[in-house]
Amino acid sequence: MAKKNPPEFLVNLATLPQGFHRRRLARDGVGFEAFIWRGGPGPVLVVNGATHGDEYEGPTLLRQWAQRWKPKTLRGTVVFIPVLNEVAFFAGARCRPDDGANLARSFPGNRRGSPTSRLACLFDQQVLAQATHYVDFHSAGGANRLKPWVGYVTGMPGPIDRAQRAMAACFDRFWVWSGPPLPGRTLSSARARGVPAIYTECQGAGDVAATDLVALNLGLRRLLITLGLVSGAKPRLRKQLTRITRSAKETHLQVHHQAPHDGLFVLATRLGDKVRRGEVLGEVLTLAGQNVVIRAEHAGQVVLVRIQRSVRQGDALAVLLPV
Ligand SMILES: [Zn+2]
Repeated sequence: MAKKNPPEFLVNLATLPQGFHRRRLARDGVGFEAFIWRGGPGPVLVVNGATHGDEYEGPTLLRQWAQRWKPKTLRGTVVFIPVLNEVAFFAGARCRPDDGANLARSFPGNRRGSPTSRLACLFDQQVLAQATHYVDFHSAGGANRLKPWVGYVTGMPGPIDRAQRAMAACFDRFWVWSGPPLPGRTLSSARARGVPAIYTECQGAGDVAATDLVALNLGLRRLLITLGLVSGAKPRLRKQLTRITRSAKETHLQVHHQAPHDGLFVLATRLGDKVRRGEVLGEVLTLAGQNVVIRAEHAGQVVLVRIQRSVRQGDALAVLLPV
């Protein structure tokens, strides 16, 4: 399933001397900073934050590690990219303002495409192409708040599926939500390359919750041990609440309870609440004076809510985990 790679890597991890390196990977007018720990032979773990520009948990944690982590022995290579989508990050926005494209819908990208498409292509061909394991740190961003989870794509061949489940289990403070592949994601490219991959979703709300940072940090340490990159006692893991769904729609967060009009959103429920089908989740008040009630499409637990009160038609206002 591997795609054709360019003949030369901008940074070839296989020939990089052992030690710690900071490199800027840039091509076609797009780029990002990478922190690389190159050890002996072993796995190549790639972790990034800020695929979406308004998600700060991943950047915060990875930047801290880049500053402080000095492994005594390392069996393999670790690549951290705290901020993948720099232009969106500095705009404080989910997507780059210049082309408006969602990086998490743009993979595998195209060197002759929009800036976002070129960025996807750079990351796919230059970084994912050299990875053996991949983690994408997401969050609810500035407009939403969620109950943190970890997920992966189902339907992968046995060894990859087992690797993904073991990786997700490291993040044991989060529950697990996994489903069929969706196109355009970083995980779609990892899947096409046969690279075991997971993503995490932290609570967001435009901030970095201390509890999320602790959970992510613990998960990352355990992941390094689990993959054999560093030594350490085998972690004792909490059992996670797990939901594996056959519905790709279920884990596609942007298609649930969409605002029927532009307007002011008034939320009538709280994160974590269990609601019945038809129960009122909130109301969209149009500026012209209409009120439209938003009702639960199915029974479930509220795992994501919109916190930005101005909404555009089509914005997702809430996501329910079916229970
Ligand atoms: Zn995201």
